[in-house]
Order: sequence, then structure tokens, then C-alpha cells
Amino acid sequence: MINACSEKTKTNYAHKDNVVRLIRNISRQIRPTTFDNCFGLSEYLSVWFFLIGLFVAASEINSVIFDCFVGIIIGGRFRALEEIAHFTMHNVIFSSRWAGVIISDNLSQYPLFNPSTSFWTKFHCAEHHPNVGKLGSDPAFQLLLDAGMARGMSKWQFAMLVLMPLSPRGIVSRIKFALLNICAPGEDKVKFVARLVNIVCLCCLIVILFGWKVFILAYLPALILWLPLFSWISLICEHSWFAIDRLGSDEGTERELAFGKRTKFEGLAGAIARALIFPVGDTYHLAHSLVPSLHFRFLSWFDRMLIASDAGYKHVPQTHGLFGSRSRPGSLLYIYHQVTET
Ligand SMILES: [Zn+2]
Repeated sequence: MINACSEKTKTNYAHKDNVVRLIRNISRQIRPTTFDNCFGLSEYLSVWFFLIGLFVAASEINSVIFDCFVGIIIGGRFRALEEIAHFTMHNVIFSSRWAGVIISDNLSQYPLFNPSTSFWTKFHCAEHHPNVGKLGSDPAFQLLLDAGMARGMSKWQFAMLVLMPLSPRGIVSRIKFALLNICAPGEDKVKFVARLVNIVCLCCLIVILFGWKVFILAYLPALILWLPLFSWISLICEHSWFAIDRLGSDEGTERELAFGKRTKFEGLAGAIARALIFPVGDTYHLAHSLVPSLHFRFLSWFDRMLIASDAGYKHVPQTHGLFGSRSRPGSLLYIYHQVTET
């Protein structure tokens, strides 16, 4: 199917929107089957099996430093759960919307103290994707603006912005956010009870099976510090948030390209950044923005095809890992240059 599609795009390519349009149409037609529900569930379970391995390792090795280190890796795996839930929201993993919501809520959103899948779908799919970078319309951009991201920031202000989840203000807002999600005004009581049962059961299981040491030194920091930090950095790096003024583009694919950037994750530093901050589909965020209904397992292929055939995509700024170097800036450094240039 993919090879056939690749051949077709090569021959039909006439306008730079064609590849994107073609893949959009195909991805709309190829819907997950009932069988895909098993694969969808296995995506979540594979992360949870890895997490159990980390909990076992932390409980077996009697070292505070090791427990803290494991907490960072757990935070990265929580990011992976968050990202799988993100693609569940886009309806690309499960054939049954109902099954997808229940699995995503119980294996990602509830244990991570995140908003429910239904609420997040509205925020992300209906409001963020069609309005990337639009003042007053894009809630993701608004989060960054509310936190103080703006053109003309100093180096110090940018550093504080990036590390905000580790600051007292960030920790307090994380706890408030978690409590707000538990109470979730507007959601039914069944979801409220299901969320509480999920959280209490998970916490009890971790304490009973792996001990208080693992709970306090690894699990809680992963939830309160590392997951929020990794999600926050990922959000900062998602788009070229302040590029629109320069490129003058406004809508549709042009807008995505104007706000986009591609990132190459090379070497050990790239592998670590991918594992902790940009797992699953975030590695190819621009490709995802162009076709949100494409399964994350096809994104690397789609990225390669666009580079080979789409001049607009190919010329989008490319960054190298998270920090990169002076000559080849990374994703975070690229945003840093954008906001600190006046
Ligand atoms: Zn998305």
C-alpha cells in the first residue's frame, strides 16, 4: 500500500500541495480495523511493561541516585504514553472511538493526572490544529504567551521559561492542574469515580509492590517534575511560533509550513532527546501537523517522501536535536534565537 502510494505521488506531483493532499485523502480512507484495536492496546501495554521493569530495577537497587535517575526515565515513558494518547485522540489507533477513549483515559490520561481524552480532543484537535500560532485562537500558543514567551526576551528570561516546570511556580501550577483535572468541572460522575479508582489503585500497587522509596524518589518526581518539564519543552519546540511575521503566510498548508520546522535527531544526544521529550510522533511534528490523521508509524516515511518531493517542506528550517551546535542549532536553540532577536 505504502509503496503503491509512493509511486503514485512521484508521478502525480505537480503542485507542492499534492503530496500532502494525497496522503490526507488516503489517510482519511484507511481507517483502523477491529484488529487494529489489539495493536493499539499493545502500544500502551509495551510502555507499561517497560515502566514495570523500571520500577523493579529501582526497588531492587538500593541507591537514592539510581532511583532519581529512574524517575527521569519514567518521566520520558510517561511522555510516550501522553503521545500515544495524542494519536488516539486523532482517531488513528483504534477502530472504536469508545474503546480508544476508555483505554487512553485509563492507561494514560488518568494515571498521568492529565485532562480526559474527550476534553483534550477538543483543545488539541478542534482548537490547536486548525489555528496554529493564531493569537486568541490557538490554546497551545496561548499557554506559551501566558507563561511569558514573547519576542525580545533576554537569555535569562528564556532559560527561566524553559525550566518553569521545575520552579516553585511551575510545581504549584502542576499540582493545581492535576487537581483541576481530577475535579474536572463539566465531566460526569462516572469519569470522576473511574479516575479516582485508577489513581488510588496505581499508587497503592506501586507502594505495595515496589515500596515507598520508589514511590517518593522515582514515581512522584516523574509525575510532578519530569513529565511536565518534557511536555513543556516539547510544546516550546513544536512550531516556529514567531515565524509568521517574516514569511507572511496565512492559512492551510502554507501556514503549517510557515510555522513548522523539521528536526533531525542524530547520535546519542538525539536518541536521548527522542526518548525523553519527543517520543512517538513528536519526532516528526511538522509531518503530523500537515496530516494529523496519519498513524505515527507512517510519519518517518511521510517525512522522507515530502523531503524528496515537496520543495516547500524541504525548505522549512531544519534543526538538529534539542540543542545542536553553534553552526547547526537544535530545536530549542532555534526558538531561543527567534524570541531573543528583536
Ligand atoms: Zn496533533
